[in-house]
Order: sequence, then C-alpha cells, then structure tokens
Amino acid sequence: MSVAPPAAGLAPDQLDSLALVLGAVRGGGIRTRPALVRELGLGRNVVSQRVAQLVDFGLIDEGRLAPSTGGRPSRELRFRAEAGCLLVAELGATDLQVGLSDLGGHLFAQRTEGCDVAAGPEATLARLEQLFDELVAERPPGVPLWGVGLGLPGPVEFSAGRPIVPPIMPGWDNYPVRDRLAERYQVPAWIDNDVNVMALGELRAGIGRGEQELLYVKVGTGIGAGLISAGRLHRGAQGAAGDIGHVSVQDDDSILCRCGNTGCLEALAGGYALARDGAAAATAGRSAPLAALLESSGRVTARDVITAAASGDVASVALLTRSGRLVGRVLASLVNFYNPSLIVMGGQVSSGEDIFLSELRRTVYGRSTALAARDLRIKTSPLGDRAGLLGAAFLVADQLFDSECLAHWIQSGSPSGRPDLSSGGVAA
Ligand SMILES: [Zn+2]
Repeated sequence: MSVAPPAAGLAPDQLDSLALVLGAVRGGGIRTRPALVRELGLGRNVVSQRVAQLVDFGLIDEGRLAPSTGGRPSRELRFRAEAGCLLVAELGATDLQVGLSDLGGHLFAQRTEGCDVAAGPEATLARLEQLFDELVAERPPGVPLWGVGLGLPGPVEFSAGRPIVPPIMPGWDNYPVRDRLAERYQVPAWIDNDVNVMALGELRAGIGRGEQELLYVKVGTGIGAGLISAGRLHRGAQGAAGDIGHVSVQDDDSILCRCGNTGCLEALAGGYALARDGAAAATAGRSAPLAALLESSGRVTARDVITAAASGDVASVALLTRSGRLVGRVLASLVNFYNPSLIVMGGQVSSGEDIFLSELRRTVYGRSTALAARDLRIKTSPLGDRAGLLGAAFLVADQLFDSECLAHWIQSGSPSGRPDLSSGGVAA
C-alpha cells in the first residue's frame, strides 16, 4: 500500500505542538488558552496558532467564556468528539461485544452475544463484520467512520496487527485481522491484546483516570495484565508485555496449561482451573453443592465454584483462596519490580465474592516491599464489561491523534478512506 507524504504545510515541530494541544484538550483537564500555555510550556503565540488550526480542522471548537481568574476572560475549548465515529469490539473466548462510539469513547450503541473464538478467524470475523455493518447503518447522520478498534484474547503483535500463537485461538496464528478490517471499512484499524485494551479503558475512562503507574489484571477463564507506565500503555518490544498467565508458579508436571507448558499461573488459578478442580472436588465427594450441580448439568463452571464458596462450601472456599494467593504472589513480584500506584482487578473471578480479593490483598501487601506497598491501592474495575469497548475507542483515537499519524491525514480533514494509516509504517 502506498503512503501519502506527511502534511506539506506543517513542519514537524508544528505537528508535535498541534498534537500536544489537541491531546490536552481531548483529555478534558485543560480547557483554556492560558491554561494550555501554563501547563504545556508552549508560548502564547504558538498556543493561539495551534488552537486556530485545530478549530479550522474541525477538531476543537470554542464554547462559553470560562470563569475569569482575574485576567481577560477566555473561551472554553472543547474536543469535537462528534467529528467522527468508531467501530469497536472486544472478542473474548466465549463472547463478542461490539459497539459504535464517538471519538471520545461515548458509546452510541452496543451489542453482546455468545461466540466461540476457537471456530477460527473466518467464521468469527464474518459474524463480527455483520454486527459492525448493522452499527455502521445506525451511526448519526452525516458522521463519517474514522476507525476500527478490536481487542483479542491472546498475544498480538501490535505493529503487524496480527495475533501470534494465541493459545485459545486455534487457526488465528498470524492471521491479518487488522488489515482485513481496515480494507473492509476503508479506515485505519488497530488491534491489541484484550487486557491491554481494558487497561486503556480504565486509564482513560475508569478508575485509573490521571494515574501514571497502573496495573490492570484480568482473572477470567485465563489470566493477563496490562501495564500503564508513565501514563502510557507499555506493550514491550513485540506487544507481549503483561502476559502473566503463563508465569511458572509451581514445579508440577501434572498440571498442563493450555499453552502447552506446565505449572503456569493460569492453569492453577484462573477460571479454567477453578472449573476443573471444582469438578474434581465434586467427583471425589468433597463438595455436596458442586456434586449436585455436576449431576444436574453435567459440568461445573468457575461461576458455580464462586457461588458455592459464597454460601460457605469448604472445598470451594479453599479453591478460591488458593487462586487469590497464587495470583497475589505473582502480583507482589510485579509490585516490587515496577511499583504501580494502583492495581485494577477485572474479570469474572475478581468480581466474585470477597474471598478471592481478600486473600489476594493479604498476599500482595504481605509480600511486597514496604515502600512499594506504602501507597498501593487494589480496587475492582467499576467499568466491568465496558472497559474493553471504551478501551478500544481510546486505542484508535490515541493512534489517530498521535503526531506521526496526524501528519498523514490532518490536512485532508479526515482519516476516512485511509486504511493505509494503520499499516505501512505510518503509525507507531
Ligand atoms: Zn501456560
């Protein structure tokens, strides 16, 4: 694919300051020209010029007069999130969430349905595209589509837009997911690991707002983490950072993980492990409520174990406690290693009864160094299921408004019709 040259009329330093001003207004914390001068360390003339350019490009507008702080009153600046809309999706092992959002992460519409990611990319993406097509038809009149964002439940090479050897996604290895979606909708598309996307959702629209050092941990069927460092998502060299589910926590060859290794955290403490060990407890006669469930439905789920633990079933409490302790040990190592100020816990197991979280907290605080644990907070995700869709919207918006990507489309006024923006080395 050929790539259009960067905007001819804007020098690189102008683009940098343009992106900086846009980012500040987009974040919502800085609303006036004097505040931009003060907070960004840019000159008054530079700020005035960039604001005027962004107004011309239709990315910000001026609202009412801001409350005066003594000097001349100035107009409040507002990011025009309604300038374009985004298709966003979160693909899990067993369900698919899709949504239509504005550029600020406000969802106009969303749908959730069951799906089997193991059915492979052709069947799964065909259904995703059907749902996307319906949402495109529902977008507000006159609002163009500007991008697509998707979270996948496996390792994603971010720069290539492809999943790489994902353990629970047979047939998806190296499949060009990003390029397929960009081509179909003729807009730039970005895909990332689902937990990275959720971390971004919490950082930009959830409990992590304003945090610089945040760890988002999802304990669902599998286990994964997304790292925010210095206020930005840390993907690592290939995009594999945060895949803590396969950290080795036990020298036990009998516990096989879905990744093919043995002794992985996920194989001992994830929802998959709770279901397996719950069924074993039922069969061995160690849990009457789980045995009853096994007999009536033919299986035991992680949710069954969580529910049985809440009503005092001793075997289920033991399983959930073990899970909290094992995840807590790995998190304590991460706390000592990179010193986050906030850990946000998401996923089905974390949202269950307090048995898991209280054991996890006890373990993390007990095994972290005093300094690293001093101001550490461990909270559950208030966004819950919505973190993925909101995160996918911010994933796309952050890329579109990055100075390097912005250079390639700002003067044409829109990234619509530019699937090349997310490939061919245009964007980081
Ligand atoms: Zn593993």
